[in-house]
Amino acid sequence: MTEMTAPKSPISSKDFADEVREQLKYTQGVTPEQATAADVYVAASTAVRRHLMDSWMKTQQDMVNGNTKAVGYLSAEFLMGRQLRNALLNAGLTEQFNEAVKELGFDPQDVVDAEYEPGLGNGGLGRLAACFIDSLASLGVPAFGYGIQYKYGIFRQEFDEEGRQVEHPDYWLANEDPWGHVDYGRDQKVSFGGKVVEEDGKRVWQPDWSVRAIPVDYMVPGYESGRVNTLRLWQARSYDEFDLLAFNKSEYMEAVEPQVKAENISKILYPEDSTQVGKELRLEQQYFFTCASIHDAIRVFYPGEDKPDLTTFPDKITFQLNDTHPVIGIPELMRVLIDEYGYDWDTAWTITNKTFNYTCHTLLPEALEVWPADLIGKLLPRHLEIIEKINDQFMAELKTLTKDEAKIERMRIVTGGDKPAVRMAYLATYAGSHVNGVAELHSQLLKDVTLRDFSDLYDSKFTNVTNGVTPRRFVKLANPGLSDLITEGLGTDKWLEDLDLLEGLVPLAQDDEFVKKFAEVKHQNKVSFSNFAKKEYGYDVDPNTMFNTMIKRLHEYKRQSLKILEVIAQYADIKSGKVKIEDVTPRTIIFGAKSAPGYYMAKLTIQLINNVARVINNDPDIKGKLNIIFPVNYNIRVAQNLIPATELDEQISQAGKEASGTSNMKFALNGALTVGTLDGANVEIRARVGADNFFLFGMTVDEVEAMYANGYNPAKYYESDPRLKAAIDMVAGGTFSNGDRNTYAPLVSDWLTKDWFMTLADFTAYHDIQSQIETLYADQLEWNRKALLNTANSGYFSSDRSIEDYLERVWMTGPLK
Ligand SMILES: *Cc1c(COP(=O)(O)O)cnc(C)c1O
Repeated sequence: MTEMTAPKSPISSKDFADEVREQLKYTQGVTPEQATAADVYVAASTAVRRHLMDSWMKTQQDMVNGNTKAVGYLSAEFLMGRQLRNALLNAGLTEQFNEAVKELGFDPQDVVDAEYEPGLGNGGLGRLAACFIDSLASLGVPAFGYGIQYKYGIFRQEFDEEGRQVEHPDYWLANEDPWGHVDYGRDQKVSFGGKVVEEDGKRVWQPDWSVRAIPVDYMVPGYESGRVNTLRLWQARSYDEFDLLAFNKSEYMEAVEPQVKAENISKILYPEDSTQVGKELRLEQQYFFTCASIHDAIRVFYPGEDKPDLTTFPDKITFQLNDTHPVIGIPELMRVLIDEYGYDWDTAWTITNKTFNYTCHTLLPEALEVWPADLIGKLLPRHLEIIEKINDQFMAELKTLTKDEAKIERMRIVTGGDKPAVRMAYLATYAGSHVNGVAELHSQLLKDVTLRDFSDLYDSKFTNVTNGVTPRRFVKLANPGLSDLITEGLGTDKWLEDLDLLEGLVPLAQDDEFVKKFAEVKHQNKVSFSNFAKKEYGYDVDPNTMFNTMIKRLHEYKRQSLKILEVIAQYADIKSGKVKIEDVTPRTIIFGAKSAPGYYMAKLTIQLINNVARVINNDPDIKGKLNIIFPVNYNIRVAQNLIPATELDEQISQAGKEASGTSNMKFALNGALTVGTLDGANVEIRARVGADNFFLFGMTVDEVEAMYANGYNPAKYYESDPRLKAAIDMVAGGTFSNGDRNTYAPLVSDWLTKDWFMTLADFTAYHDIQSQIETLYADQLEWNRKALLNTANSGYFSSDRSIEDYLERVWMTGPLK
């Protein structure tokens, strides 16, 4: 590898400064004196991109010349975060950049801060895709990330005066995007609608309308691998942009109608789908990017060939379906093979079957996508025929495997009845080679519950790949202090490529001097976060309090309610004198969360948290012992600032609901202790860091199931735990709504009568663990020893390890030679 790994770039900071000056002049058209930090950001990014160009081209060449199969990671989301620092790190240009920018008279941080974070994802699933393409490149595996370049990413969150979430469009492309290269020459045509006719005994799709898919390419540089992969995000454009005739008749709206219709496809992430048109738009998006990506892969791997031998396609690329969003790619590949290239059904089936694999990300049955057959028929009539034929073939196959008619009926891909629908997860499970869950517990539950019939009959398809996170972004970039200390402790920085090396820190946990250094790093990170919180949000945060964090999408199953109810109960204890203020461990409690715009209960929970913060933070009786902050617009940047400063992180979902979680991994790696349930990857984290170094509480999956089965009555818990009762009564009584009893009535009523995720049932256990937490926290040396053991034992949760598992268990491929 050595001659390939150019990263510790030989270029001097002087030369790099010259390159930035050149870009300022030739791309920005400004002198260094005229330049703003934003200009320098664009110029430096362009310069870095140029440095990556040779490796990018070579990686593509080597991939096409093919000594190994590539990975196509199909995902509706890629939550990349800012690019500049990551690209500098992976290109080995960090020092040069810092020096060069100073020489030009700028603060490197200001230049980095000029980058606007793209929000092309919602949460964990999108961040996972970003971590995976980083790891693929770092391991030298040729890969494409394929997705959509949404014009507006996830909404920008604001809070109004009442503490309610307000959504604003996030027009990230209003700023220059030096990382994305729009490649008009490599566009693809994506068609919709129309009908299927019979011609010479063949089924021929005559679509009604088409859009142009234009690729925008982002380089994905590997860390010290000399490899640069591609993230190819598609943008939708119209072929007939503009109706001049209509315009000249002053019909201005009509004139741009085709343009609007086409461009709507890549307008926003997850359009609201409670309406028929919203559903239609989502399916259009899914087909749009999978169709373009499949055609793109054929173009890339069979360049210039009119009659490629596509029986070799599965040897060229393997497609990973990140959840069900890209599953429409399965009938699309069948259609391409049969209708466009003339293969017979069985050959097409063999190719398709070998090409696709599916990752399931949920256990909630309502989260598995199901499309009404008539909607598919309207947008993609030929695909519906193919899906029906797959279903017929499947039903026939099942009859040879089992006599259990009820089971066969349950497994239908296309449901029966007069409103048939297509179950995308079933289609993916049957049509692909492998299905994986994303943590051991989750994969087991997939087999036992969600896809049980399938695992009975197709057990060998099922496997587990526990999620991971990239240590480059989430340790090295986010936490430079800890990174230096790890390197000092291990005597090498090789851990960034082989995170298992962190185990070498285990003996150092017995070295009090080292533990104190570790504690000092944490303290410095808390100071840094306090400064960040002041500058960005105006918060006053005391770095001498315990930093206790809960950041993740707002969802009832994740149980932000449990946390806020405990905070309220603690407040009530202080107010009533049950707990003396001097006995309270001072905490800064930090929330970060966006709620889906149409998710009423989640939005109400956000409002409650904001108002609990308002009341408690302003209550003189609390004497600053509890400080609750809720930095608005949680995103990767906030995560990178907050995670290294956190001492206690909350992973308190109802057992059996969180598929994996990845923030739990980021926290453990950065030396936070977790308070959590036995859910998702928490189980594996606890097993690795040690039960003594993890605050476990709450019901297990089996206990949850038993409680559902026996009938769950939340009011019983309200009656039997006076602290819980006091907290809920405070919410109901208007303490956090200026006396108004209606504001939170829907939440209160849900807690007392339904509480599907059993927040109340776990409340007492959650409270009981707090005293253990506080006792340990009082002994800072012991706390930090355990925190260090979290870091030392979390190397397994590198996304490099996840990718290695995929290579071995699912993709059957490896790095380029
Ligand atoms: C890691 C990450 C997530 C996933 O968090 P979970 O707590 O695992 O759901 C979501 N959003 C951002 C910005 C992240 O960095």
